[in-house]
Amino acid sequence: MGKVLVMLTAVAAVVACSVATVMVRRRMKRRRKWRKVVGILKDLEEACETPLGRLRQMVDAVAVEMQAGLVSEGGSKLKMLLTFVDDLPNGSERGTYYALHLGGSYFRIIRVHLSGQRSSLDVQDIERHSIPTSLMNSTSEVLFDFLASSLQRFIEKEGNSQAVKRELAFTFSFPVKQTSISSGVLIKWTKGFAISEMAGEDISECLQGALNKRGLDIRVAALVNDTVGALSFGHYHDPDTIAAVVFGTGSNACYLERTDAIIKCQNPRTTSGSMVVNMEWGNFWSSRLPRTSYDLELDAESMNSNDMGFEKMIGGMYLGDIVRRVILRMSQESDIFGPISSILSTPFVLRTNSVSAMHEDDTPELQEVAKILKELGVSEVPLKVRKLVVKICDVVTRRAARLAAAGITGILKKVGRDGSGGEGGRKRSHKQIMRRTVVAVEGGLYLNYKMFREYMDEALGDILGGKVAKHVVIKAMEDGSSIGSALLLASSHSVQTIPSV
Ligand code: ADP
Ligand code: MG
Repeated sequence: MGKVLVMLTAVAAVVACSVATVMVRRRMKRRRKWRKVVGILKDLEEACETPLGRLRQMVDAVAVEMQAGLVSEGGSKLKMLLTFVDDLPNGSERGTYYALHLGGSYFRIIRVHLSGQRSSLDVQDIERHSIPTSLMNSTSEVLFDFLASSLQRFIEKEGNSQAVKRELAFTFSFPVKQTSISSGVLIKWTKGFAISEMAGEDISECLQGALNKRGLDIRVAALVNDTVGALSFGHYHDPDTIAAVVFGTGSNACYLERTDAIIKCQNPRTTSGSMVVNMEWGNFWSSRLPRTSYDLELDAESMNSNDMGFEKMIGGMYLGDIVRRVILRMSQESDIFGPISSILSTPFVLRTNSVSAMHEDDTPELQEVAKILKELGVSEVPLKVRKLVVKICDVVTRRAARLAAAGITGILKKVGRDGSGGEGGRKRSHKQIMRRTVVAVEGGLYLNYKMFREYMDEALGDILGGKVAKHVVIKAMEDGSSIGSALLLASSHSVQTIPSV
């Protein structure tokens, strides 16, 4: 009996020892995997670093590239496109105007009525719809007939049977080489659009043709980049507005430039002595940009690789996919997210609105994060893993917002409003430099993502310094691009001739 007991005790001891060993091994393995994941996060943080010195280099690079793009066609990755807009709305406009806005994710149709006073701006109707993804790689006919039919329905709602001659501004959020304020040819598609054989086509003519086919008596009287629409809207309400930036599906900026600084355009014939320049800043590039392996992969797999490098780091279309790629890498290199989810492996499945929802999740258990991970095929992850996901969102968005701030300051530097002593090194008195400067900002990313806004504001303050930053006002405006385009149409007295380049 005693012998059996001894043996049983020995067996139990051996079993206990093995269990303990297995548990210790498992724990060690888990720890190793966790360390690996923490290492991936640390690498990400380092690769995304945007210290002040680096941001200042970016500011300089933006200003230098702007200058190069103004000197000669193709002189910079920044196209610095002429817009032929030399006068911005000021509040005295009158009449009823329409705008049709093709963005990267949405299209909008609006009707505004103006009665000569700023305060009486009346947005009579506004519609906002998602762009069906099938349209993005359809044909020119399909796209423009879709826009024309949407406009037809919008107008039919008015129930006005009398023949009225209508004027429309076409707000177009893709790079266009303008030939006048009302015409221009597509340079290339961006933001996931890929309709072949459209580059070089006149965008206004395409829309006008589709409207005519449907027997609609509407004249496409202005072709307006969305940033220029936003600037017009900003200037209408506040004449100190000198630039506009869009942070939506993609990102772009425009600003008011002195015509004598637009060296590539020798005969601009403007009455105001200035012209709005569409920077197409999504294509900005500098070797100083903090680029990660995830950015490289995203770019290589995109429809427009080696193009729009800046947009791919700050645009709403891309932030979600950068975050997804980091989570996927972690999932591949450890099992903290469970078995690799096929959903998580799908490009663009994680949208930036989900990134902001996770980043701003203030529930104690991070339930929103858990919900979104579940939608990605990742369930039952512990709280510390959910916290890790929030950190990834933070790193990616903070980098985007700080780069965005550097971009804005680059514009301010170019026009001598960054407090550094004026354009072209001309020193001015402190008082002259510190003019109130308004930058109009719009787009779904900026308007809906609080942390993006906060990081951008913080970086602007850091780069400019408190004394200068207090003179720079960032004004958010919803639907500014669409409404502003209608305002611009109302106020347009265009530069009629194509200047020699
Ligand atoms: P468009 O680019 O078509 O003009 P918007 O300016 O409205 O449209 O921007 C839409 C984009 O803004 C979305 O594709 C998304 O990337 C981003 N966005 C929208 N809502 C949010 C949100 N809540 N958080 C973060 N990003 C958002
Ligand atoms: Mg937009």
